Amino acid sequence: MLEGCLQESTGGLVVEPLNCRGCRSCQLACSFAKYSLFNPAKSMIVMERDVHTGHAAPMICPIGCDLCGGDPACAKACQYGAITYERDAKGYKILVDP
Ligand code: SF4
Ligand code: SF4
Repeated sequence: MLEGCLQESTGGLVVEPLNCRGCRSCQLACSFAKYSLFNPAKSMIVMERDVHTGHAAPMICPIGCDLCGGDPACAKACQYGAITYERDAKGYKILVDP
């Protein structure tokens, strides 16, 4: 598990890579939230493929992401539980090996 250090007071995102279906709804939701555009290239989320499993999963840029002010569009867009929001999280969390 990797843990970063973004805005403790607003909770954190938890990514569960094995739940990801690669639909990219999170990227579209993020780009719309940030720039009012449906453009994955404008998202704070990139899809990375695990070289060992071949499974694609989202990675969230800890610099560009502001957690949508505590109401993350990406977590709301994900229907598979691959990105969830923890209001009481002590930091910005990315689970890379659930
Ligand atoms: S994290 Fe969720 S919304 Fe994003 S690509 Fe994976 S399944 Fe789709
Ligand atoms: S919480 Fe971060 S990654 Fe998710 S939609 Fe908002 S800015 Fe994008």
